[in-house]
This record gives sequence, structure tokens and C-alpha cells, in this order.
Amino acid sequence: MRLDKLLSNMGFGSRKEVGKLLKKGAVKVNEETVKSSSLQVDTEKDYITILGEQVIYKEFVYLMMNKPQGILSATEDSRDETVVDILEEEDQHFKPFPVGRLDKDTEGFLLLTNDGKLAHNLLSPKKGVPKVYFAHVSGVVTEEDVVEFERGVMLDDGYVTKPGILRIIKSAELSEIELTITEGKYHQVKRMFEAVGKKVVYLKRLSMGPLVLDDELKLGEYRDLTESEIALLF
Ligand code: URA
Repeated sequence: MRLDKLLSNMGFGSRKEVGKLLKKGAVKVNEETVKSSSLQVDTEKDYITILGEQVIYKEFVYLMMNKPQGILSATEDSRDETVVDILEEEDQHFKPFPVGRLDKDTEGFLLLTNDGKLAHNLLSPKKGVPKVYFAHVSGVVTEEDVVEFERGVMLDDGYVTKPGILRIIKSAELSEIELTITEGKYHQVKRMFEAVGKKVVYLKRLSMGPLVLDDELKLGEYRDLTESEIALLF
């Protein structure tokens, strides 16, 4: 890859800006100052520094966000702020997108990546990746609901859901539950409860596949996945 392309990809500015840095002698490849933008470098083998700092090449970015309410799970929107808008510029640079959607009023675990293949695998209905949600539900959630969800419930459009595992944390006028589903139909959790005559009033996703929301992340915060979390996805 051309040196200026690599540095630009890594967020050091446009190719023109990177060209200026090179001319100033800020970049070294294998300890030698390099001024030529067009030098071909090997991202695996060459040791590249910029102002003395090693440049570690990465193509993909994997971010775990604790999505707050009021933000859209989209890359851009003309009216509302999106989960990509609230990323730091250096992360936006990788052009990540959310893997699947959470409603505007849903909080919690959201993975953002620019790795289309991984996103496709995680979302593929064939893979049936489990997603765990915590919810406050208006209405008394009962053991009958647990059985109904286990059998699959019919949504308003006639679709019968795959089995969901419903765990009642608190059964009261305002119930608390945890629900594991392996699909991602539009508003699925809310519509499953509507199917049994109840209303989700607060929804938070806790996990997706092997990845669990880091409880250190406050609403709106995010972090890179660790190497071991990334390894769990492949
Ligand atoms: N189910 C819903 O109803 N909403 C979400 O945001 C996610 C799952």
C-alpha cells in the first residue's frame, strides 16, 4: 500500500496533509526518514513511525457502545443524532456502522464496526445469534407468558416468533424481565409483549452473542473491543 494512503487511512489527515507531514520529515519507515508519499509499504512487516510514535495499521474497528435513548442506530440522519455522530472523529474515520438496530428509545449494547462480513454473520437469521434484553413491562408478567414465549408468539403481522427464553425478575403491575431471542424482527421485544397484552416501557440490550455490555460504560460511552472479545466473534 502507498505510504500516504496508509497514513491517511489511519487518521493522520487527507493525503495532501499527510504529504506535508512527509515533507517535514515526520515519518520514518524502518528507522529511515521518508519524504516520498508514493513509497510502497508492507503493513505487516514495515516499522512505521510518525513523530516518533509507532503507527499500528488496522483495517477494521470494533466498538462496543452503551447506546443512550434518543439516539438513532444509523450512520446518518437529517433530523436526529445518530450513534455514529456521537463517536470521536478518529473512530468515525473508519466509517463504522451499527450491527443491527436498536429503537431510538432502547438503550444498551450496540456493536459498531466497518467489518461488513462480521456484521453479516452476526445478523444472519441462519446463525440465530442470541440477544439478551432487560425490560420493564407494564402489566403482570406470568409463567403463562414464559410458556407462550417458549412456544413462539404471533406478532401483529401474523409472524410466529422462534422460541424466546423469558425470565421473570419481578412480576408486578410494573414487571421486570430478561428475554433472550435469536431473531431481530422490527420492534420484536415490544411486539412480543404486545402479543400477550403487555407493554414494554423500558428496554435495554444486555448482550449479543458472546459479547456482554461492559457495565463500566456509561450511557453514550463506548470502547474498542478487546483482543479476546474480537476472538470470540471469529
Ligand atoms: N426489540 C425491540 O422492540 N426494540 C429494540 O430496540 C430491540 C429489540
